[in-house]
Amino acid sequence: MDAVTTDTFDSLSPLDGRVVDTFPVRGPAEVVSAVDRARRAAREWRSLGFEGRRRALQAWRRDIVAHLDDLIAVVRAETGKPRGDARLEIMLALDHLAWAATHARPVLRRRRVGAGVLMLNQSASVGYTPYGVVGVIGPWNYPVFTPMGSIAYALAAGNAVVFKPSEYTPGVGVWLQRSFVRAGGSADVFAVVTGLGPTGAALCRAGVDKVAFTGSTATGKAVMAACAESLTPVVIEAGGKDALLVDEDADLAAAAEAAVWGAYSNAGQTCIGIERVYAHAKIYDRFVEAVAERTRELRAGADDAATLGPLTMPRQADVVRAHVADALARGATARVGSTPAPGVTLQPVLLTDVDEEADAVREETFGPTLVVNRVASMDEAVEKANAVRYGLSGSVFSRRRGSELALRLRGGMIAINSVISFAAVPALPFGGVGDSGFGRIHGADGLREFAYPKALTRQRFPLLTLTTMRRTAKVDRLVERIIRLLYG
Ligand code: NAD
Repeated sequence: MDAVTTDTFDSLSPLDGRVVDTFPVRGPAEVVSAVDRARRAAREWRSLGFEGRRRALQAWRRDIVAHLDDLIAVVRAETGKPRGDARLEIMLALDHLAWAATHARPVLRRRRVGAGVLMLNQSASVGYTPYGVVGVIGPWNYPVFTPMGSIAYALAAGNAVVFKPSEYTPGVGVWLQRSFVRAGGSADVFAVVTGLGPTGAALCRAGVDKVAFTGSTATGKAVMAACAESLTPVVIEAGGKDALLVDEDADLAAAAEAAVWGAYSNAGQTCIGIERVYAHAKIYDRFVEAVAERTRELRAGADDAATLGPLTMPRQADVVRAHVADALARGATARVGSTPAPGVTLQPVLLTDVDEEADAVREETFGPTLVVNRVASMDEAVEKANAVRYGLSGSVFSRRRGSELALRLRGGMIAINSVISFAAVPALPFGGVGDSGFGRIHGADGLREFAYPKALTRQRFPLLTLTTMRRTAKVDRLVERIIRLLYG
């Protein structure tokens, strides 16, 4: 591929601005050729069967564990996140890789289904066939965990994968592929194409059989439009504006701890991060005080002791500043912090009594800010939580009404008396509704997302043959009698 590539781009570290590495910008022809090679390699990968792929993916998992510190260093260098955050996302990704590898067979293997009364003579079964080549387009905020939710499940289902990592974290993508190869895998079964947005767009048009996209809603729409040209199916894992609800009977210390971690961990650059809290008026003041106390303990910086890193994407800092300034201009109170100063190292901001029409309430901020608003009832909390275009996930703290409130929240994943915990349960599907996208990664649904159902019927003996031009009126009358008997 190098013979064709002339352009390169640098991956810069948000920690100190240094060039981490330089990568080729892959153009449309190179992306097509990666997909062609992946298609050929996919045959052999598929022929390994569930057991062979399980072994290969387990070997990959072991290689990642064996070189853990190395991967943590690359993630930290490219994203700026603290080592602890980098370690945590890799741990979760490994758990998913192991789950996908061992569960592909029970979830996707061919199984018998009842043939029904009219087709008693048929044996019916359904099995799941891999698409072929899956294009995975990833974001930078969790450069291991997020794409692994597609890569591991797509590979386990029997597809080859061509991965386009974010231009902010290309080194992590390349590292993952090297690890796969070091563990005995083929560089064509799991290929990586580096580049900017146009490389992602080229992947959508390169003849892949499915695209799994994770990123912003705006780019998700562009990906879907590009895929529509060839009717290529897509999974869209897009942004969120997740809310945490605190009921009057909640464990306030636990709720405050969860709100702070949900909002500020990874410097707030989490699709399923908590950006809004609706707290019952009866406990509002005490809850806000507990959140403020914990928020004041945090510090953003590039040094090893900092609890939050700098923002990975410099232009996101402008969005955060604009959201805070807009909220304050509309009368909100900054309980901790204020409109962030220029630069990418943003100290945490806690806003209260924010106008529900403010961008900080309605749009994804994706930075270390949290809005806490007061509600008179939990019905009001549910209504306000559901009043945004996004529907990714959420959280409820309540002793008596947790499940009831959780079921009323709009979103694909809700945690009761904890936060974000669903993402660490490999058996649970991950994804949202509305502007947060559609389709699912993780769990059995995530495996099925990367394979299409293939239905088979096999005639065991002739009986009431309906599919013949020589069908008699007697057969029709008999069928009618059966149907009337059963369903009349
Ligand atoms: P982004 O949309 O800017 O970029 C995502 C990827 O798409 C990158 O690899 C980028 O190069 C590529 N891309 C850009 N233009 C493209 C085009 N026209 N065609 C194809 N690909 C293109 O998102 P980001 O800033 O990298 O990530 C942050 C966003 O991701 C946030 O909105 C966050 O909520 C979301 N996110 C969602 C989930 C989830 O699972 N729902 C997980 C993590 C992040």
